[in-house]
Amino acid sequence: MPILRFQALHDVQHRVLSNNKEEDRRSLLYNNNVFEEQAMRQHLPKSAFESVMSAIRKGDKINRTTADAIATGMKLWALDKGATHYTHWFQPLTGTTAEKHDAFFEITTDGNVIEKFDGGQLVQQEPDASSFPHGGIRNTFEARGYTAWDPTSPAFIYDTTLCIPTVFVAYTGEALDYKTPLLRALNAIDDAATDVAKYFDKNVSKVNATLGWEQEFFLIDSALAAARPDIMLTGRTLLGHASAKGQQLDDHYFGSIPTRVLNYLKQLEQECLVLGIPVKTRHNEVAPNQFEIAPIFEEANLAVDHNSLLMDIMEKVAERHHFKVLFHEKPFDQINGSGKHNNWSLATDTGVNLLSPGSTPMKNLQFLTFFINTIKAVYTYEELLRASIASAGNDHRLGANEAPPGILSVFIGTQLTQVLDELEKVTDGKLSPQEKTDLKLNVVGKIPEILLDNTDRNRTSPFAFTGNKFEFRAVGATANCANPMVVLNTIVANQLKDFKVEVDTLIDEASMKKDDAIFNILREYIKDSKKIRFEGDGYGEAWEKEAKKRKLSHNKNTPDALAENISNKTIALYESLGVMNNVEIQARYEIEISAYIKKIQIESRVLGDVARNHIIPTAIRYQNVLINNVKGLKEIYGEKYLTYAKEQSEIIKAISEHSTAINMHITEMTDERKKANQLTLLPKSKAYCQNVLPYFNKIRRHCDKLELLIEDELWPLPKYRELLFVN
Ligand code: ADP
Ligand code: MG
Repeated sequence: MPILRFQALHDVQHRVLSNNKEEDRRSLLYNNNVFEEQAMRQHLPKSAFESVMSAIRKGDKINRTTADAIATGMKLWALDKGATHYTHWFQPLTGTTAEKHDAFFEITTDGNVIEKFDGGQLVQQEPDASSFPHGGIRNTFEARGYTAWDPTSPAFIYDTTLCIPTVFVAYTGEALDYKTPLLRALNAIDDAATDVAKYFDKNVSKVNATLGWEQEFFLIDSALAAARPDIMLTGRTLLGHASAKGQQLDDHYFGSIPTRVLNYLKQLEQECLVLGIPVKTRHNEVAPNQFEIAPIFEEANLAVDHNSLLMDIMEKVAERHHFKVLFHEKPFDQINGSGKHNNWSLATDTGVNLLSPGSTPMKNLQFLTFFINTIKAVYTYEELLRASIASAGNDHRLGANEAPPGILSVFIGTQLTQVLDELEKVTDGKLSPQEKTDLKLNVVGKIPEILLDNTDRNRTSPFAFTGNKFEFRAVGATANCANPMVVLNTIVANQLKDFKVEVDTLIDEASMKKDDAIFNILREYIKDSKKIRFEGDGYGEAWEKEAKKRKLSHNKNTPDALAENISNKTIALYESLGVMNNVEIQARYEIEISAYIKKIQIESRVLGDVARNHIIPTAIRYQNVLINNVKGLKEIYGEKYLTYAKEQSEIIKAISEHSTAINMHITEMTDERKKANQLTLLPKSKAYCQNVLPYFNKIRRHCDKLELLIEDELWPLPKYRELLFVN
């Protein structure tokens, strides 16, 4: 029934602008449903409160008696807020969040009804979660996984359920989720960065990685989305001719937000604030119907939880507003895709941002230490960092002239480039008093306290320094930030540890002064890591060539990129810092490769189905209309009919040609899938990438041509101009 598309369009026309009630004061909403410091202080006995706080601040363990006390306080708080259920909330490797709700309600042996929730239920649960991906760590019939409370991320109430953030691990201890390795990596960076920060300030006892993500997404009317099997099943359009008007006028970017979208965003923001997600900015993005929201940055583990929670809430609130949210990295051909910039920095417990230049030469030396070590870490592990953002979806976006390419490079701006150039000239050995004065006055002393130089921003860099933080821009919009955050924090931790050893060696063995030693080592790092620095156009072909000369890796697709995740270099890195062991590394690799294969497989099937079941039958129906028309003309005009049926005859022919080509390519693609399915994991992923995927564009091209030929009223799928411009 081609009516589908028109019914959908009709539905959209009559959307009620569901306005939310009077907007509450934002500051009053914030953290309302979060069991955070203030709520804990009110609901917990003093000793229990202190125990949680030291677990958060110092990673101390919480004993069972204390856990009981915390559970009691948490339960009373939650019941008071109307919660009826509780759940351990975790992030399995499927890429979404998981929860299994249990009611507080319980019947005692003597028949009384009570609300029960004790320390045991708070601390550990055993969800029957045997079908989450585990990459061979857990056989479904043997050890189950369990979830364990992460006190560093506060519990919250969503939809009358008390959600307790947890890790998800196998009984044998291996991580089955995103959070566990993240917590380990954050621990590693804390240790390493604290040690180095102590060179500059003895009072530092903890360093937190901070993360501020920026989430991009598309909003599509849900009725239109529902009429597109590709959007519903794969999150993107597998076909669809470009709209006459796309993003070429750049008139959407930072334009006024459509009322219906604004209503959605307002309600979304309120829900976020209540849950403690400090959303702050919202604006239109480059593409039509594309938007972005970003919070104030937070400690990285909390920020990762908040991003996962946000994505979940975004979908739920969207349903109420008849929108479908698309997080896919490339939902529309020839229209910008969506990313998730990860802004990252390091903050001490003394309140200092270690990537922020300061007002004194010593503070700036501290800044340069962390700044240069980060650059060196990215250089050493550029290929691993690239792998951390690899996914089937992001493959379409990286290097598509809209997003930073699959080549990692670091942009630092002209000012800091000059500073590093000067530092490179530091004497090899102990510094003379004159040299020290020069350095302090003319180099380190000259870094302005505020470096936020907006004119110097290079949007084409995948990893850019933006004044007081690095911005990792190549992350895809669907990604869980944990992956890139695990890699970034681990490699910087590793680098800072090496740095500490090298500086201490110079101090101890060459009896250098501390700052002499630091200058010496930094000079070497600047030289060593120069190749990763690039200030030019990251989208250009020239850079691709130059990067090749510099021997930087350029892995263009996910199977190639993921190989680095199991290299000896990576295994040594993760094992030495206790972030993941070999079993965990191999399991994750397997899960990611399988996910890639499945994504392409599903897309391939959907495309085949839509082309054969929707497009070709529609084409034939229209062709028959034309054939009847031509026959009619022949009846009227006899042999002269061709004069009047020229156009129709051409379309009849074109429809046959395109339909034949589509059919042929689908058959070939299906054969390639069959062949690929016989292979083992790695060759299978490559076969899907090299032999199946290329058919997508071939098939699409013919379908899109048919879209232009066939009568609008018959076309079964909502078109780009409708998906992207119907509000
Ligand atoms: P933009 O990059 O869009 O110009 P900003 O520079 O203001 O915007 O910040 C972008 C993101 O960077 C925000 O989410 C913000 O919270 C985050 N951010 C700012 N400072 C830090 C920091 N020290 N650590 C981590 N993220 C930060
Ligand atoms: Mg940004």
